Amino acid sequence: IAPLEVEAIRRDFPVLERDTDSGHRLVYFDNAASTQRPVAVIEAMNDCYRHYYSNVHRGIHTLSEESTRAYEAARQITADFLNAASTREVIFAAGTTAAINTVARSWGDANIGKGDVILLLISEHHANIVPWHQLAERTGCVVKFVPIDDEFLIRDEVITKHLAEHQPKLFAFGAASNTLGTEYPVQRWTQMGHDAGATVLVDAAQAAPHWAIDVQAWDADFVVFSGHKVCGPTGIGVLYGKEALLEAAPPFLGGGGMISRVTVDGFTTHELPEKFEAGTPPIVEAVGLGAALTYLQNLGMDRIHQHEQRLGTRCDQGLREIEGVRVIGPQPEHKGGINSFVIQGVHSHDVSQFLDGRGVAVRAGHHCTMPLHDALGVTATARASCYLYNTEDEVDVFLQAVRDVRAKFAPTGRRRRRRSETS
Ligand code: PMP
Repeated sequence: IAPLEVEAIRRDFPVLERDTDSGHRLVYFDNAASTQRPVAVIEAMNDCYRHYYSNVHRGIHTLSEESTRAYEAARQITADFLNAASTREVIFAAGTTAAINTVARSWGDANIGKGDVILLLISEHHANIVPWHQLAERTGCVVKFVPIDDEFLIRDEVITKHLAEHQPKLFAFGAASNTLGTEYPVQRWTQMGHDAGATVLVDAAQAAPHWAIDVQAWDADFVVFSGHKVCGPTGIGVLYGKEALLEAAPPFLGGGGMISRVTVDGFTTHELPEKFEAGTPPIVEAVGLGAALTYLQNLGMDRIHQHEQRLGTRCDQGLREIEGVRVIGPQPEHKGGINSFVIQGVHSHDVSQFLDGRGVAVRAGHHCTMPLHDALGVTATARASCYLYNTEDEVDVFLQAVRDVRAKFAPTGRRRRRRSETS
């Protein structure tokens, strides 16, 4: 696969040209939290606001028809990006969190009862845990977790064992861990979930930005992701669901747009996908998302993934060479561009602050994966996450900054000795 032309790509992202408060050139390594936007996305949204913005669907006037066409074109682009069989299966939600909550409230409330099991991975993001805890509070269902092993991995046998033991109604897992960086075999695990009789939800928030998704090959029942992690806008995400499941599930939010008829006695619902899109939808955000997905696809998801793996591996290997640094994640062949780590004796917030002083933006904390951090016995980690516009030079700036953190906050044995000699 031809490598990405990163220097050209960087010119598409105006924010990458700026310096940080420290006066250093920005090295943006917080992409797992949110990515930056190319000009194509900014301009597409700008163009909509300047030239044809209106509310969609209901207006019979030029602007509304143009906005509706653009909104539905974005849905078609999204369906193609996912390889969904139909745009009826593609629902615009506010983000991954909103999409999972929608599944929990509609499909979950209708299909899950007391004693039923929801099976998750211990590495899940809170967005794929809390809605199920809330469902458990409403229904009396039980939430169970598949653990990770000493190498931060989850073996097929462990999944199979948990599926057999718990007979879950739902198996919901992240396609990739936003903390460990591990990329999971989605198609195989989905098949295993189905073989055990479970409905399968895939949180693709950390997959959609990085590799080609094929929901039909995956055969997952629900797949969700966020716009802002694929170089698109905030405030929009995608809920893909198999048509039969979405047809059978009741709507979650009620209001305008999702109905076909309302009377004083009740209502009937609109067809898919509007049934799940109550109220004025994120119109301009959909236009921006469509532009973002087109941008990624023009570059090629395979090339993007190859680039991130190369940077991720350089990061991982560089970190492992620094004394006192522990990588919280498996070996690079299991990961993409995400690397979490701890530095012995240094709080991750101090790491992040020091790195910011070098222009390097990383995240520190629990990354919304508290159960994982509890299981690992660490309170917080620092996380460097690369994306398509990052370079090997930036990885090296980052690694040098980590070496310097270590030297500043946690002096090596040699330095300590020297200091005690002089005191
Ligand atoms: N799941 C995963 C794996 C994530 O990484 C994130 C974002 N960090 C979310 C869910 C939540 O996404 P959002 O905040 O866009 O709803």
